[in-house]
Amino acid sequence: MNGVQKEYANFVKISKEIAYVQSAISVLEWDMETQMPPSASDARAQVIAHISQNILQKMMSKEYTYSLQALKEAIDYAELPNGQAGNVLQAITQYERMRAIPADLVLDITKTCASAHHVWVRAKATNDFNIFAPTLTRIVELVRARGRILNPVHPYDACIQDFEPGMTSIEIEKIFTPLRVSLSDLVRRIQSSKIKINAHTHKFGATQDWQHQFCQKVATAIGFNFSRGRLDESAHPFSTRIHPDDLRITKTTNPNNVWEAVYSTIHEVGHAKYRSGLSTENFGLPAGSIFSSALDESQARLWEVMIGQGKPFSEFITKFAHSAWFKKTNHEFYQSINAVCPGLRRLDADEVTYNLHIILRFQIERELIEGRLEVKDIRDAWHELMREYLELDVLNDAYGVLQDVHWSAGLFGYFPSYTLGNIYAAEQYSKIQKDIPDCDSLIFQGIFTHIDDWLQQNIWQYGSMYDASDIVTWAIGKKPNAAMFIQYLEKKYGELYEL
Ligand SMILES: [Zn+2]
Repeated sequence: MNGVQKEYANFVKISKEIAYVQSAISVLEWDMETQMPPSASDARAQVIAHISQNILQKMMSKEYTYSLQALKEAIDYAELPNGQAGNVLQAITQYERMRAIPADLVLDITKTCASAHHVWVRAKATNDFNIFAPTLTRIVELVRARGRILNPVHPYDACIQDFEPGMTSIEIEKIFTPLRVSLSDLVRRIQSSKIKINAHTHKFGATQDWQHQFCQKVATAIGFNFSRGRLDESAHPFSTRIHPDDLRITKTTNPNNVWEAVYSTIHEVGHAKYRSGLSTENFGLPAGSIFSSALDESQARLWEVMIGQGKPFSEFITKFAHSAWFKKTNHEFYQSINAVCPGLRRLDADEVTYNLHIILRFQIERELIEGRLEVKDIRDAWHELMREYLELDVLNDAYGVLQDVHWSAGLFGYFPSYTLGNIYAAEQYSKIQKDIPDCDSLIFQGIFTHIDDWLQQNIWQYGSMYDASDIVTWAIGKKPNAAMFIQYLEKKYGELYEL
């Protein structure tokens, strides 16, 4: 082994050590959300904070710094094979971003956001943005300061790149602007259609035990392997990043609507499949990791919405459920699950209006972090945009500017990932259907392995060795944009509402 390969082996060793600690933290966090008694929360927070320090120390260690510097030189002299160079370059980007932020600023952000949560909960419960405004002002100051260190011209881009390496706000705007125009138009046409669809027809209640068993059956049917995974209950559904061979997902059960648990399960199975397809050999390296929230989200939305709420799956699932208890026809189910109902809450939004909620948040947080809008004015900005995009009047703060937890946690730049995820999902689904002409009839028969094979081949195997938009570009054969997503929505909802 030459000197460069020895250095690469050292880089791999440290990267894996960091990943083992992260994996342990993921188990602790999963336990915290699913099993832990409530009184243990302070003790658990201390344990996680202590172990997290270990990751920071390893990432900032002289050994790791030296290793990355030596490998960067080796890349400059073309002494590292392409695959290895890809891993190192992505690791350097992560390392430099972390290294650039002063430790006291990181601590200030962590502490401010930790105490902000309670203030946000109180403000939302009492429906009063003024309670939260001073805390949010402080968070915005700190996020702006952090952003300006990483990108003095466009601090919001620094926020976006926490979740989407390589993505910029200008790039997102180019994708979102035509999408917004088309969506507002589509919503208006749907509302004036003579076809009215009841969004509640398909809903049905059942006990928690019954729902759990049914969700396990659905997860198994679409390819979730319970010898490598678990399905549990939590307040908000999530999936862990422990290891490709240890996949834990959760769902949330509504006693009055079985489909909430079913579709949260399908969404999380989508995330889990992506994790299961990562290379175990590259565990801990960028090639075995997920950096892009949009690509991650695209895997979940592909299963939950594009496949899960499509016609062939509706036929499959109604047949599947019929044997148990479901009395609706597949057409009634398909119509009802896809009803479009413009509303004030993002979390209740349907497939068409959901992205307008996201674009509204993107506009506001971009102006806010770039210093063109102040916290005191965001309520007015929210009301104005909600009127413009969805023709709705915001009734109160809890149904407006206070509805999402993200900003109280300092999460700016995350919202665009939801819509980018939908766009990536539509692009992938369209290409899957082109590459596999009998895709729909296989779904109807309850066969899904062809989709997994395509995703493994085109998406999962790369992990995060390249930027997500490049991986999607190679997978679909062109640069992703909103056109395919708009086309998909026009076709589906044009048929449903006879537009
Ligand atoms: Zn998700």
